[in-house]
Amino acid sequence: MKQFDKYVIANYGRLPVVIVRGKGCFVWDADGRKYLDLFPGWAVSGIGHCHPRVVKALREQAGKLIHVANNFYSVPQGQLAEHISRNSFGGKCFFCNSGAEANEGAFKLARLATPPGKNKFITMHNSFHGRTLATIKATAQPKYQKGFEPLPQGFGYVPFGNLRALERAIDARTCAVMIEPIQGEGGINVATDTYLKDVRRLCNRKKILLIFDEVQTGMGRTGEYFAYQHSGVVPDIMTLAKSLGGGVAIGAMVAKPEIAAKLVPGTHASTFGGNALAAAAACAVFEAIKAEKLLENTRKMSKYAFRKLAELKERHEVIEEVRGKGLMIGIDLLRPGAGVVARCMQKGVLINCTHDTVLRFMPPMIVKKSHIDRGIRTLDEALTEEFGG
Ligand code: PLP
Repeated sequence: MKQFDKYVIANYGRLPVVIVRGKGCFVWDADGRKYLDLFPGWAVSGIGHCHPRVVKALREQAGKLIHVANNFYSVPQGQLAEHISRNSFGGKCFFCNSGAEANEGAFKLARLATPPGKNKFITMHNSFHGRTLATIKATAQPKYQKGFEPLPQGFGYVPFGNLRALERAIDARTCAVMIEPIQGEGGINVATDTYLKDVRRLCNRKKILLIFDEVQTGMGRTGEYFAYQHSGVVPDIMTLAKSLGGGVAIGAMVAKPEIAAKLVPGTHASTFGGNALAAAAACAVFEAIKAEKLLENTRKMSKYAFRKLAELKERHEVIEEVRGKGLMIGIDLLRPGAGVVARCMQKGVLINCTHDTVLRFMPPMIVKKSHIDRGIRTLDEALTEEFGG
């Protein structure tokens, strides 16, 4: 930690724990302490830490080819694009390295794919789309923007879930609307199917594009491969990252073929995007989800967790609401949750708190009932110690 603090920029609030190993639902620190990880890698290790299929794919691919520049073809990138396309809406993929980059790609493509003069985006209050200049502008939360002005132009905001406000905000310059089907950092706010359907109809009527940011909700997290599949509302562009690579950095922007066709050579690029190693890992994630029936497990464990959390809510007045979908669960408290997260960690269970009061519980898709039981038992104790019974 001394070395780290001396040489690494202190731009994160870091817990005084050195994680050295991970396996499945667990991580170990340098002192050998084991933690049940119910928020693995901020939703990156979606199928658990060091999943054997991902490890095997990485080992095999590393021995063959790690990287090849994007002016050549490579086998894993093509295979991954097919996995994504076949399991979503038949789109074509551009690969990058993170969620923010995937969203940047979506903004660039949306401007190219709509008539000249259309260049404005509408995003939602409490959204989160990344930390680059354009994506903090898209993120309609002032705390992420403060100090970084001037920010790129062409973004407007409306309240999440308010169709009328969206309709009023769309003008002749609007080219696209970007929505997280479930807001993650914003506090696990679930868009209703009706709202998403209405937004789709509105975008069609106004001839503008609909972009879903599925960076956090994608890759099975909600019990479907992609959260939009619950509503049946198909976006024009979808962005992915986080758990796509099973822990390896990779992002993707997926667009309907006729829209994707606008991204011709010279318009956009990423040196590392879709490199052989990351793409091989992401293919292994798709294979694991299918072979191990992880969508089914996610749905089953989700039902179980929501039932147990409803019981927990009965015991703790401080819990205002439990919401979410699949294994993307928010426990909204009437008081700040940071103390609860710290107490859980002392007891060997890792969870997260976002938006000051929302505990985030996002176990990997391989989670078992026994893990959920332990997590909720620990949460129960932590809530009692922090706020009383
Ligand atoms: N979009 C959403 C919905 C996210 O939750 C995040 C990260 O938390 C991002 C975009 C940014 O992703 P990255 O940190 O990989 O740039």
